[in-house]
Amino acid sequence: MSTISIVNPSTEVEIASVVMHDVGETDRAIERASAAATTWRRVSPADRARLLRKFAEVIDDHVEELAQLEVANSGHTITNARWEAGNVRDVLHYYAGAPERHAGRQIPVAGGVDMTFYEPLGVVGIIVPWNFPMPIMGWGLAPALAAGNTVVLKPASLTPLTAVRVGELALEAGIPDGVFQVIAGEGATVGERFVTHPSVRKICFTGSNVAGRRIMEGCAAQVKRLTLELGGKSANIVYADADLERAGAMAPYAVFDNAGQDCCARSRLLVQASGYDRFMEYFEAAVKSVKVADPRDESSEMGPLITAAHRDTVSAYVDESTVAFRGSAPSGPGYWYPPTVLDGSDRSERAHCEEIFGPVVSVVRFEDEDEAIAIANEGPYGLSGSIWSRDIGRALRTARGVETGTLSINSNSSVRYSTPFGGFKQSGLGRELGPDALRSFSEEKNVFIATEA
Ligand code: NAD
Repeated sequence: MSTISIVNPSTEVEIASVVMHDVGETDRAIERASAAATTWRRVSPADRARLLRKFAEVIDDHVEELAQLEVANSGHTITNARWEAGNVRDVLHYYAGAPERHAGRQIPVAGGVDMTFYEPLGVVGIIVPWNFPMPIMGWGLAPALAAGNTVVLKPASLTPLTAVRVGELALEAGIPDGVFQVIAGEGATVGERFVTHPSVRKICFTGSNVAGRRIMEGCAAQVKRLTLELGGKSANIVYADADLERAGAMAPYAVFDNAGQDCCARSRLLVQASGYDRFMEYFEAAVKSVKVADPRDESSEMGPLITAAHRDTVSAYVDESTVAFRGSAPSGPGYWYPPTVLDGSDRSERAHCEEIFGPVVSVVRFEDEDEAIAIANEGPYGLSGSIWSRDIGRALRTARGVETGTLSINSNSSVRYSTPFGGFKQSGLGRELGPDALRSFSEEKNVFIATEA
């Protein structure tokens, strides 16, 4: 039996050893999920809603335990980790309201009555990355179960602990056996088997573009339903007419949150030339005051990177560019890296074009609205972004012009469980969350009843 050693990224100490499942075990889990799907879909909408609410309550009772587990496994700050565990609870509550409202339509036709039903797909395979193990689990899990599907979920090999615990809590909450199973393992074994197994009817994948493309090819063989949430290189656009003090104070948190290991990180900071110097004064002071410290410390604002290898990758990007200034970080043990600001004037640099997935931002000047939009739209991604301006017309024109899925004006926020989330261009395919998520976990069926002889 193969195992993987789980290392705390802020101490470099091994904290657990987790069994990595093989293809045979994955097949057995999928078969259990398939059998459970025939009974779960028949659970009445009211009872399914009750079970999801109970699941949310059990998560609520364990928020602190789950948060502490995430701090140890992923190095997330305790404040963020509590939010993440609470987000699983909240998304379960939100979609608990859905089974009784997932109504089909009655369509006027000649000669009879026509109606549509939303049928569950069957087994859904959810594949999760290491950067936000809990929220990304919840975003797929909650609507999939609410729509009457069963779920097999593969956490990332580096960060399986909270998913394994949530799997146990589901059983404690009374979610029937086989309806939600967590299968830790490698992408090349467990993940690929989700893609090739014919009983898995949909894949929800969040992760890198390289793996996403491979999964999309795999799904094509069976015309398997697929949602992709992939990489990003989002822009934070600051106009000179913005509240520059506030924009400067907030900008570090738009990119350094979760040590920049965030698909929505605004890792390109575009600043209008006429406000540049004033904004940069506020921004530099804010970057230098970001508290990078032991993630268990209640006042820590940024923890370590996930592994030493990932720190090397981040560092290689920075070495090829020009550092404008940076904050500080502990020396170790732990995979620490300081918040780093690059001079982004050469927009052909790798550090400016590629997703670094670390606490690194490159700053670029622009002259006017058209140039801001043009720069923001450079590159293959379109996931997130922010716009700072007091002119609401300009802010909205810019929001409509930027090719990206989730934008905020005068705010850093990206994700709310009640609003749709997903990417333009190569940042993904499909949308998660929001009021329509259940549709992507259902097949729409049309039934006609003849009423004429
Ligand atoms: P990754 O692609 O290496 O792995 C993601 C998951 O896919 C892991 O569970 C992995 O084991 C599995 N996997 C890898 N290859 C596979 C294959 N061939 N078949 C099936 N499963 C496979 O990504 P990562 O390094 O864990 O995560 C970082 C990436 O995720 C970044 O690019 C980031 O932008 C992206 N991300 C996107 C979003 C979003 O919502 N758009 C959110 C978080 C992270």
